[in-house]
Formats: sequence, C-alpha cells, structure tokens
Amino acid sequence: MTDYLVKALAYDGFVRAYAVDATATVAEAQRRHDTWNTASAALGRTMIGGLMLGATLKGDDKLTIKIDGNGPAGGIVVDSNGKGDVKGYIKNPHLSLPLNSIGKIDVRGAVGTEGMLTVIKDLGMKEPFSGQTPIVSGEIGEDFTYYLAVSEQIPSAVGVSVLVDTDDSIKTAGGFMIQIMPGASDEVIDQIEEQLKETTRISSLLDQGQTPEEILKGLLGTEDVDFLETMPVQFKCDCSKDKFGAAIISLGPDEIQAMIDEDHGAEAVCSFCNNKYEYSEADLLELKREAMGEV
Ligand SMILES: [Zn+2]
Repeated sequence: MTDYLVKALAYDGFVRAYAVDATATVAEAQRRHDTWNTASAALGRTMIGGLMLGATLKGDDKLTIKIDGNGPAGGIVVDSNGKGDVKGYIKNPHLSLPLNSIGKIDVRGAVGTEGMLTVIKDLGMKEPFSGQTPIVSGEIGEDFTYYLAVSEQIPSAVGVSVLVDTDDSIKTAGGFMIQIMPGASDEVIDQIEEQLKETTRISSLLDQGQTPEEILKGLLGTEDVDFLETMPVQFKCDCSKDKFGAAIISLGPDEIQAMIDEDHGAEAVCSFCNNKYEYSEADLLELKREAMGEV
C-alpha cells in the first residue's frame, strides 16, 4: 500500500495533528543506503520527522534537517518538501548497536546526546529560515519536540518510530505530530498529555494494522477528529546527470581537463539516493566546452 500522511484538527481547532505511515519510504531509504538496523532507525526517524515538518509547508517550499550528534551514526541529513517527498542519508549506514536497556533499537546510542539539530526552510524568499536547537535526547522524536517548542514556539508532541525486522528490512515506520494552538484551554492540554502517556509506538500500531487515521483518533482520545487532507508520501530524489554535470562545469575547464587526463572519465554518486552517474571522456569534453562558454 502507498504511504500517506493525514492532517487533522481536533478540540475545536485548538489541536493540529499529523500522522504518517512511511513504511515503504523508509524501506526504500534502507535499500538504497544498505543501512543496518540502528542506522535504519536513526535515518528513518529523521525522515519521518522531515515528512511531518514538510507537511506544514506549502507545496513548493522545502526544508533540510541536519542532526549532528557525537554518536557513531555521524551526521544525518534529510530533505523534504510540502508535496510529501523526502530523501536523506546517514554518514555511517553500517551501524548495528546492541539493543538498549528496554530492548529497543538504541537510536540515542547511535546519534549521541550532544550536538545540534538544525532545520533550514526554503520558503521561496530571499533568505532561508534557519533554526537550531541542541540535541536533548538523541532519540530524535524528543529532539523534534524540543526544536518546535524552542525554535518555533509551538508546543508539540512528536513521535517517530521504525520497526526493523530480523533480516534488516523495514517492517513498519511512521510517526505523529500533535501541536497545541494558542488559546487552547488547560483541560485540552491536560487531556492530550494524559492521552500521550499511554501511547504505544506508532510502528507497533501500524504493525497491528491500524491506519494513520485510527492512530490519530487513539492518540487524541476522541472520535471527533476533522481530517483535512490526505497526502501520499514517498522517497524521491531530484538528482540527474544534468545536475551533477552543472556541478562539474562549475569546477572550471582546467579541473575538467585534469579529470580527462588522469581518469578518462568521471563518476558522480548522489549522497541522498546513491544513484551513480557516469561521464565518459566525450561527456567531459562537452562539459569543458560549456565551462569555457563555447556552448
Ligand atoms: Zn539523488
């Protein structure tokens, strides 16, 4: 089934909520990057957060999330947009740590407990918006929650989870984001907080066959949820041979000639999707001519 995200309102519009089934999306990232279980969970959780933050944007707007912690995962980078597209990579994909003290994948151990979470939003204006908060947990969901509270001043609860099978494939992956709007009553806030204490991980709820809609109703503790939009989400990279060609052109003619002389060609690998692009000597000569302004 296709992955999708739902946007909803509840409690007379004072609560905004998102839930996403990103199982196939995270599975594609796992296959493309050959991530091992701990890296799959860390990258997958960041991608799920990216999808939900992206869902707050308009269609063509986009954002980049960087998690730079002091753990063995190294950096994690995720790009998403308002159309449900997401892509990402983790510096150390071959990471498999022992389970943590509660028998779960040790994402904190992978990410680390010190470092920064950065969100850069390109909203089609001159200057991108950029917000940054320290890593407070390393489990990623709590780090998004902290980022939203401190950097965007939106009291939120974010849950992101990935269930990895014993063969390293992705069983389920998903998340929720619940935001309290200004003016919400203390009763509403208390009720949501109580409700969230009981929460089972989304990946387990998906594994039980629940839909994002059912999960949101359960999380919010009410049947009275107004679903505004359903948006398909997917792993999607916009790289191409032309785009990498433009990067090669920007190196300048001398550098391109050196690639021709030394390697008789070039290869570019997209760090987001692992697609490879080969440039023959003839391709490079063509790019060199463009670099010299001859085309
Ligand atoms: Zn790519």
